[in-house]
Amino acid sequence: MLKATFRFYEELNCFLKKNRRKTDFQVHFEGNRSIKDMIESLGVPHTEVDLILANGESVDFSYIIKDDDRFSVYPVFESLNISKLTRLRKIPLRRTQFIADINLGDIAKYMRALGFDMHFDPMLSIRGIIEISRNENRIILTKSRKLLKYKDVTHGIYLHPGKLEEQIKRVIKYLDIGKLARPFSRCLCCNNLLQSVEKDRIMERIPPKTSALCNEFSYCKSCDKYYWKGTHWIHIKETVDRILGD
Ligand SMILES: [Zn+2]
Repeated sequence: MLKATFRFYEELNCFLKKNRRKTDFQVHFEGNRSIKDMIESLGVPHTEVDLILANGESVDFSYIIKDDDRFSVYPVFESLNISKLTRLRKIPLRRTQFIADINLGDIAKYMRALGFDMHFDPMLSIRGIIEISRNENRIILTKSRKLLKYKDVTHGIYLHPGKLEEQIKRVIKYLDIGKLARPFSRCLCCNNLLQSVEKDRIMERIPPKTSALCNEFSYCKSCDKYYWKGTHWIHIKETVDRILGD
């Protein structure tokens, strides 16, 4: 039997069994095991990992574990100075484009309301999601650990169970993209950027009551749909404000 010592940092602890969180722990194993396999067998999707130190030196996912190795495993962690160390990915992780898995319709809608580029199609297969993620450099948001364990997933974030607002807050904080939010700049239905339109030009398309109360309108060309600050908008805005609030 060989043994290795592990310590996981920050959010990665959420994936571990309770007695392994925020502490050193030992794993006994046999034969040649790559660090990637080992990390996943401990419950942590490899897409959540950004840096691995083996005995103080950075290594990549293919590293074969040796007897008595000691590992520190980090998530994306901006404040850590890792400029001299091996990054696990050739492409930077911090893309600000997303694709949500088919169970995340609500998350997709609010990410769009915040102005983030969010591909969402409830008809997509897992393969389809992964292909779009790779072709368009989109980060996958999912509640499925299984999806993140597919070999060719390069950028993905696991959404822990919780309220919608908390889940979105966590993504924003994790990627540090709060300043990139542009609320109400995108169509909630199709993700296209909206354009503002003059009220005079669309009088015949909106209810008279609305045109009396609202002055700002925006338009989605691909859906041929108008948006204005009605009661539905106010409801979404309250949620958006809470998400960006602190
Ligand atoms: Zn649209």
